[in-house]
Amino acid sequence: MKLATRVGKVTPSLTLTIAAKAKAMKGQGIDVCSFSAGEPDFDTPTHIKEAAKLALDQGKTKYGPAAGEPKLREAIAKKLYQDNHLNYPPEQVMVTNGGKHSLFNLMLALIEPGDEVIIPAPYWLSYPEMVTLAGGTSVIVQTQADYDYKITPEQLKEAITPKTKLFVLNSPSNPTGTVYTPQEIQKLAEIIVEKDILVVSDEIYEKILYDGAEHQSIGSFGDEIFQRTIISNGFAKSYSMTGWRIGYMAGPKELIKAMTTIQSHSTSNVCTFAQYGAVAALEGSQECVEQMCKAFAERRQVMLERINQIDKLSCPVPNGAFYVYVDISQTGMTSLDFSDKLLESQNVAVIPGIAFGNDTTIRLSYATDMKTIEKGLDRIAQFMASL
Ligand code: PLP
Repeated sequence: MKLATRVGKVTPSLTLTIAAKAKAMKGQGIDVCSFSAGEPDFDTPTHIKEAAKLALDQGKTKYGPAAGEPKLREAIAKKLYQDNHLNYPPEQVMVTNGGKHSLFNLMLALIEPGDEVIIPAPYWLSYPEMVTLAGGTSVIVQTQADYDYKITPEQLKEAITPKTKLFVLNSPSNPTGTVYTPQEIQKLAEIIVEKDILVVSDEIYEKILYDGAEHQSIGSFGDEIFQRTIISNGFAKSYSMTGWRIGYMAGPKELIKAMTTIQSHSTSNVCTFAQYGAVAALEGSQECVEQMCKAFAERRQVMLERINQIDKLSCPVPNGAFYVYVDISQTGMTSLDFSDKLLESQNVAVIPGIAFGNDTTIRLSYATDMKTIEKGLDRIAQFMASL
């Protein structure tokens, strides 16, 4: 069979592959410690599940509008105003099948051959693949560990060419956990306005913050940047709703309209009754988010302490998300070699940094229980001692 050439240009998600491998090993009875999944280990809060169950009972089981249930679009618009100081009418908000789908819709609606998209590395691995699928070109900008893996204003400026259409900003970041300060965001915003490009701000980890770190949306720094901003967000990480597949996007009117048209021909609407769960997530008590963050903060502390005790491993202190991004350059191994050997010899699953555009690092997710963290770190220490 001759497949379309675009298929050959992308590779399957390495994070999903490794997480599936670790799960399969567990299924075979092997005692695996997995730090691979980008998925909170908590159950979805009860009030959210109850709202979806009620919607089912009320017959919210039919096709709905392609851009989302009006009630959810309104709730999202209200959330963006209250939490992020972004003034979008509900018409400029659309509901998607997850943050990943939001970004995919965006690339299809915006990017075409000849267009460049600036992506700081380490990046969430789907960004460049989506740009490729849309026919565009990713311009990868390598950031430095000693600047907490943040792109500098100078780097952004240098990367912009007449072909640049979009800059991808992800704070808090997957895979590094880095959170840009409001001042740093403002500087990037100034360049975006000056050079008249667009920015997509992936804010999916916005609620998972530590040590007083502050999340400020880039779109909130004035009207000029607001007009050039597209917000991507979702329910998966903050509300432990990964399997629900609900995300959203807010942005300029014509762009949301174009993405809605694309969505209407690809997935139609997002699961109708699930959207009522999302309404409850936004309108209900936010205590569940606080509780999850508290648990993440405790785990992060243990992770950091234990990693920094291991010779030849180091990582910057991440202020957000639920990942630690560990420098393995002193081992002299490639990230894939390191991850493979660690899984084979110690049954510990981590994600090789090469998946995120950096081959001297690995990513560990601490969205797992404390016992696994303690045991997994013991094994990593043993592995390092054996090298
Ligand atoms: N953006 C980032 C940075 C992510 O890490 C993820 C998930 O891992 C997503 C977007 C997509 O999330 P979802 O499609 O589950 O809403």
